Amino acid sequence: MSIYLDNGATTAICPEAIQAALHIMTDVYGNPSSLHQMGIESERELTAATQAVAEWMGVDRSEIIFTSGGTEANNLAIFGAAQARKRRGRHIVTSSIEHPSVARAIDRLEEEGFEITRIAPDQSGSVSPDAVVKACRPDTVLISIMSVNNETGAVFPFDKTVPLLRKAAPQAFLHTDAVAAAGKQRIYRPSADAVTVSGHKLHAPKGIGLLYLRKGVRILPQLLGGGQSNGLRSGTEPLPGIAALAAAVRALPDVSVQQALYEKLRKRIVDQLSPEGVRFFLPEGGAPYVLNLSVPGCRSEVLVRFLSMRDISVSGGSACAKGKKSEVLTACGLDNAYMLGALRVTFGYDNTEQDADAFVHAIREARSSLKTK
Ligand code: PMP
Repeated sequence: MSIYLDNGATTAICPEAIQAALHIMTDVYGNPSSLHQMGIESERELTAATQAVAEWMGVDRSEIIFTSGGTEANNLAIFGAAQARKRRGRHIVTSSIEHPSVARAIDRLEEEGFEITRIAPDQSGSVSPDAVVKACRPDTVLISIMSVNNETGAVFPFDKTVPLLRKAAPQAFLHTDAVAAAGKQRIYRPSADAVTVSGHKLHAPKGIGLLYLRKGVRILPQLLGGGQSNGLRSGTEPLPGIAALAAAVRALPDVSVQQALYEKLRKRIVDQLSPEGVRFFLPEGGAPYVLNLSVPGCRSEVLVRFLSMRDISVSGGSACAKGKKSEVLTACGLDNAYMLGALRVTFGYDNTEQDADAFVHAIREARSSLKTK
């Protein structure tokens, strides 16, 4: 039986999402912009799906821009806001533990003349709200800090910090990459100007995501064309993915039920493996569904393969940083020995205690068999 503990890389598509996409692809293939009956039906489905997603986030339907995923939503927020505000100022505040779809976009703005302040995490791996507020200036036009770090689970309390950020940087567009939070933590009625969500991290298919953009806040579109999505993201709306995303968010179990499950699973692994010398990097108040650990004396690629042969899927660090030394773990100050044997276990709502125990058992097996060689 296959044990999937890599939900931070992607998730299984839930049956509701598959059904919704299948229905659209089979029966409702009209273009939502077409004026005939099939177009009208597609538009009706688009409106209903957008409404469901908006309700899930506690926002207005007009504030949802569907994108091809988290990467595009992050790029849209960052380039769109910087371009719209560059006459007001050229200072940006971000962290040094952002996902590459934020970090590389901001690097590009730096090359174009923006000045960047990158806040490093503290010892426990968290970005301090205080440090972000202190970095703010009157000419700060963009602040982008992720809600939950996808490699370590470190949490940044964005909503709570917004009032302080508005005071310290009144010109700034406030964006958070909530890809590693959405579906597992509340992102209801966000206070940020823009929030990024990715479908495939919450049991919808790959290739769909969204940017929540607060009403009245201006950004420049990055895709020009037919003017769909209020002119902010041209291109025929990808209705199968949108309908699947709406179905997936409707099917999400309650956040507090999920948290209790993840805390139980995390504790089960930590309690069994830490007495045996396995190291855990647990940011204070971190999301319980991301568990970064290191097995002394084992290399992470070897471990990932060893586990995979036993039908257990985990990441070595982050799936996006394949083969590279993790920038995030480096920024968190972890030593080389830790990084060599680092693994990332990420839970989903369908994981069980048996899955956690199977992982523990396989790590024990790996340690004894890899040691004897
Ligand atoms: N941000 C974070 C925190 C992520 O983990 C990911 C996916 N690895 C992304 C953004 C990019 O999302 P997508 O894969 O939908 O482009």
